[in-house]
Amino acid sequence: MHVGKLLARLNPSTQRYEQGRGGIPELTPQDVAAAIAMVPEGLGRELVCRLWWPDGAKLSAKELDRLLMEAQLAEWRARMDRLVNAQIFQAMAETPSDRYRAVAKLDSARARMWPRLGPDSCYAAIRKAVLAEMSSSCLCQSCHGLGHVRDDAGLITACSACEGSGKQKVSDRQRAQMIDRDKKTYSVVWAPVYEWTIGLCNEVIGPAHDRLRQAVA
Ligand SMILES: [Zn+2]
Repeated sequence: MHVGKLLARLNPSTQRYEQGRGGIPELTPQDVAAAIAMVPEGLGRELVCRLWWPDGAKLSAKELDRLLMEAQLAEWRARMDRLVNAQIFQAMAETPSDRYRAVAKLDSARARMWPRLGPDSCYAAIRKAVLAEMSSSCLCQSCHGLGHVRDDAGLITACSACEGSGKQKVSDRQRAQMIDRDKKTYSVVWAPVYEWTIGLCNEVIGPAHDRLRQAVA
């Protein structure tokens, strides 16, 4: 079972469902709650709880959103710093080789710069869409999020539908829809922010999932 689904059993609605169908939970909600307590506090654990067991989260949805916003803003600032440094480097370049290097530095920093901040920007919509993309509704239907399946002979093999990721593939068109932009605007303007944000979330949730899996093993 996907480790998030174990946590989801702690949600009151799921518990009723499990009992109603005479489910065979080999772990009690107390076991699962004890396991989540073994996962170190931090963004990873908060994301796990927010996605699977909101009652277990230390931070409210708004506070978690703020943490993710701060991470995006820190990255925005780092990219802006590189752009400013490249401009300074260009202003100070004296030799032809320095000037040549300055142009390359500036081009690269400009290409990596994220869109400007402001009320009409998509940063908040991206944070929301990323959480939606990581939630249970986007688990692979074939392997139920496990990344592997049992074949007819009983052997465990990687799930071909999701290539072992456990997640449904979400297309650029779907991502564009989630942030209310057309596909071209998404691809040209917002994809780097989206990919960075979901990359960060996957990076911190991975170890939290692993820790949880160890704790329930
Ligand atoms: Zn799959």
